[in-house]
This record gives sequence, structure tokens and C-alpha cells, in this order.
Amino acid sequence: MSTILLGGKICTPEKVLDPGILVINNKSIDLIQNTSEYIVPKTANVLDTSGCWILPGFIDIHMHGLLGYECMGPNLDQVIKNLPKYGVTSFMATTMTRPKKETNSLISHMASILSDPPVGARCLGVHIEGPHLSPERAGVANPKWFSPLTTNEVDWLQNITNGLVRMLTFAPEEGNALDVIPYLIDNNIVPVIGHSNASYELTKEAIALGLSQATHTFNAMSPLHHRDPGVTGAVLACHSIVAQLICDGHHVHPGAMQVLLNAKGISKVCLISDAAPFAELPSGKYHWAGQDIYIDGKTTRLSDGTLAGSHALIDTGFRNLINLLNLNILEASQCTSMVPAQSVGLGTSKGQLLPGYDADIVVLDEHYRPLLTIVEGKIVYQALE
Ligand SMILES: [Zn+2]
Repeated sequence: MSTILLGGKICTPEKVLDPGILVINNKSIDLIQNTSEYIVPKTANVLDTSGCWILPGFIDIHMHGLLGYECMGPNLDQVIKNLPKYGVTSFMATTMTRPKKETNSLISHMASILSDPPVGARCLGVHIEGPHLSPERAGVANPKWFSPLTTNEVDWLQNITNGLVRMLTFAPEEGNALDVIPYLIDNNIVPVIGHSNASYELTKEAIALGLSQATHTFNAMSPLHHRDPGVTGAVLACHSIVAQLICDGHHVHPGAMQVLLNAKGISKVCLISDAAPFAELPSGKYHWAGQDIYIDGKTTRLSDGTLAGSHALIDTGFRNLINLLNLNILEASQCTSMVPAQSVGLGTSKGQLLPGYDADIVVLDEHYRPLLTIVEGKIVYQALE
């Protein structure tokens, strides 16, 4: 039986169809058109979405967990189950720097959950963020466990995850990490610069070797100085590289976000949450990977004030793109769905509302809050009356 979303404002890549109709058959989008041109079959499961926004589901390629559940380890199943509430239809389960033995055990747990995942958001793979980082730009990670990226390390990671690593954030200036970029690409892993103190020149060299993405642009990277443009300058200057952006309103000033959008264009800005495992939890003191973390209702920080991931999920970032940066809904949707899908090689099946694409859909109310989330044709969250 097909599922039909009837009467909403459907956000296709080109325009908003209002009122539109979207027909789902099995796991895919079958048809999108104006309601007046369509006769609803009697056997269909019809959902009245009048007045709502209908968009491709949010894709968060950089997030560590939520509500006390961490992606890295045995609670990944809870992350999968809880993400649809925030409109997320797929995500990359992102890790955190820990000692090697602990990393081994936690990542093995992730691989076993992903071999038979529960119903919820689709986990697209594992995003390794650390320990191959620069001690100068550690952020919340503990530098005592850092080590430069090597091909052996890539082999080890793919071994313990059964080949599930799809993204790897690293500092190319550490050891011989620059030389590992072609090896990552050969292994179908997206090479991502991050927590890096590299020079502008070295970053450009990395981009020439195939580096295609930057982790949370502006945060934990050498900043733009007009005589020393650093990683940030290279990301702004080179069109090919996709820039991840945390849009929680605390990690990056709206003015800097605007600079990024102006320099890169919307099609190269990928919104991420970088949500901490305590995202959306009440104020208080928590513990993450050997560090005390303090939540004040809006941010998650170390005791010295360093931001430790985000307290908000990507749906908040989506609303901020509209409310803080005045993007229209189609532009905001590109940054939260199309660009992330394309940046991990899924641009022809996910991230846009088009016939033939996976039926990964979020229905939002007039304040852009999720009411209904559909993953590959299945309703996984519903607050719609
Ligand atoms: Zn992160």
C-alpha cells in the first residue's frame, strides 16, 4: 500500500509546490505533483499534511549522540531510535578520542549494532574524529591519546568496524598524514581536515591530493589572518572543499557564518550539529571521554569554558539558517540535506525530494518543528494530529 502526504508545501530542489501531493511506494518517492492533478486511490494510507512544510529529512554527518546516549559504543542503538524526533533521517555516527584499547571495544560495539540496526534514523557509517588530531587544536579531545594518521591505522579501523568507516577527520600536518589522503579515498573514506593547525599552503596541498571536506569550519582550526590565512583561509578560498558548519548560534558568530556562505555558496556549506552525547539534556554536570562537561541549557562546555560539542541538534541549526541568516527554506534545506548527502557520495539517492529518491522525509510545522519523520518509506516519528 502506498503512503500519501496530501496538501503540504512540498520543497522540491527547484520550487515549493503548494498545495502538493507526495506519493511513497515501498522505500522510494514515487510521485510529486500539485493536488489538483491527482486522484487519491482508496487503498492508500493518506496523511493530511495541509499547512505543513515537507522537506527531505535532515542528514547529520557529524554528531556524537543525544539525550545521554553516545554514538561511540553500546548506546548507538538509542541514538538511532531517538534522532527521528529531531527530523534526522540519516547520520554518520561520530567518534571521540579515547585510549586505543577503549576505542577498540567501543567501535566494535558500534559495528555489531550496525550489523542489525533498530528502526530509526539510517546510520550511514562511522565518522572517526580523533585521535589523529593536532594538540594545538584539541578542543574537547584529550591530546595525550593523539597519534598521527597512518595507513596501518586506517587498516586497523576498517578491520574492527567491518569496513564501516566512511569519513575521517584528521590533521594533515601531523606526521606523514598528508600522504594517507589517497589511501583514504581508495578505501572509500571521505578525507576531512579538522582539529588542525596546518598552514594555508599545506591545506592547499592536501586539497590537491583529494581532501574534500572541512570539519566544523572556524572551530578548532588555524584562523584566517591576512598574512597567514591558515586552514580557515584555504577552506574559504578553495571552491572544491565542502565546509561543515555548526549553526547552533554559539560556535560561530552569525557574521562569520555569513562570510562562509558568501565565499562558498550554499552548495558547499554542510550544516552539522556536532551534538554532544548530552545534547538536549537539562543543565548540570556530566562526564564524557575522561572530561567533566557542564551544560547551561544552551551550550556544553569544559570547566575552562571551551565548547564541548553542541547542545542543539540539526533541526535547531536549520531554524537558525532561516531566522538568523535569512536563508529561504529551499536554501536552508540544501545545507541540511542535499549538501551532506552529496558530500558522502549519496547525492543520487538521498537529500532531495525527487521521484526515485529514497523516501527520507521530514514534515515541519509553521515554526519549522518536526511533526513527522519518514525513513526509507517507513514512519519512524509522528506527532502529526
Ligand atoms: Zn565532533
